[in-house]
Amino acid sequence: MLERKPIFPNVIELNLQAGHLIGCNVYLVFDQDEWILIDIGYQETVDEIIELIRQLDFPLAQCKMLVATHADVDHGQGLAHAKQVLKTTVAAHPKAAKLLAAGDKLQTFAEIEAQDIHLDMPPVETEHLIEEGSVLEVGRLKLEVWSTPGHADSQLAFRMGNLLFSGDNIYRDGCVGAIDAHHGSNIPAFIASLTRIRDSDVEWLLPSHGPIFRKDTALLNRTIGRLEQYQHMADFGTCAVDWPLMDEWEDEIAEGRMPQ
Ligand SMILES: [Zn+2]
Repeated sequence: MLERKPIFPNVIELNLQAGHLIGCNVYLVFDQDEWILIDIGYQETVDEIIELIRQLDFPLAQCKMLVATHADVDHGQGLAHAKQVLKTTVAAHPKAAKLLAAGDKLQTFAEIEAQDIHLDMPPVETEHLIEEGSVLEVGRLKLEVWSTPGHADSQLAFRMGNLLFSGDNIYRDGCVGAIDAHHGSNIPAFIASLTRIRDSDVEWLLPSHGPIFRKDTALLNRTIGRLEQYQHMADFGTCAVDWPLMDEWEDEIAEGRMPQ
């Protein structure tokens, strides 16, 4: 048996528990005779994760569900295998469920032809469609489901008391989940999600990548400010909402202004 190292009461993060980096953050939330996982990561690390859970003395048959923060390959590729081994169910946003059922590779970043990235995305069915206002129950615990689109349109976060399992919304260094048109990213929605997190009374953010950290208003403000700029920058292609330089150019053309 291994000694459990909870980061907060009823919460274990499995990379931290293992003492080495396995992949994306995997949160095990437990109470009474039930436990759930928030994200599972790549398929090749599922067996290691399940063995770790066994050594922590959580009966495998008591896994209530596998929860997907969204459908990205680095979060959900292992769902099909883990579901089969644990004989459990999957919970995801309806839009993520659609991608997971189809084994979609494009919107999940499994297939990026131009970068020669070709990963499997084994299809998996979702039993529990969850969205804004849904509640996940684990023993006596309640996790409030927040829809926080931006990185992906299916991105979820889960609030449990003063903790927010915050997915790919923001990391400790102020970076955010990748903004990519093919991924369904939406910068104005992202700003709204980050503003909601900032203005909430949540105290701790438990992201899907990297260290767990205290919610920091100054950090969130800097990130929101950056994304506000992104909205007007050609750097973000079709994810930008406008490009002021084109308005200037149009005026200069109309004026017949020559290069100065
Ligand atoms: Zn991610």
